[in-house]
Amino acid sequence: MRPAKLRSRSGNEPADHMAQKQHPHSGPPWKETRLALRRLAESLSCSLCSNILKKPVNLGSCEHVFCLTCVDNCIGTACPICEVPAMKQDMKINRKLDNIIKLYSKLQTLQDKDFS
Ligand SMILES: [Zn+2]
Ligand SMILES: [Zn+2]
Repeated sequence: MRPAKLRSRSGNEPADHMAQKQHPHSGPPWKETRLALRRLAESLSCSLCSNILKKPVNLGSCEHVFCLTCVDNCIGTACPICEVPAMKQDMKINRKLDNIIKLYSKLQTLQDKDFS
């Protein structure tokens, strides 16, 4: 029943401070976004042609992803990067990744609009 004792716990207070510090003038608001987008583009690029993936496919059990057209002649042989055997039945377009790429393109367009 002594409020003075509760008030003395000042260590839990800075939550309000943090919220007030989120002002846009702390830096260009898009800078971080552009950086993140660039990183995203890197992880969405083909291991062979380095462009953004078109119809992304995995050839085998490795982590490499390629455009379907880039590895057309490797299907049923091996991954051109790490030479993991590529079985024909393993080869399929990664729809999930394809959707992410579409979202990425959309973000890219929005970003370009913001800067023009
Ligand atoms: Zn490619
Ligand atoms: Zn590979």
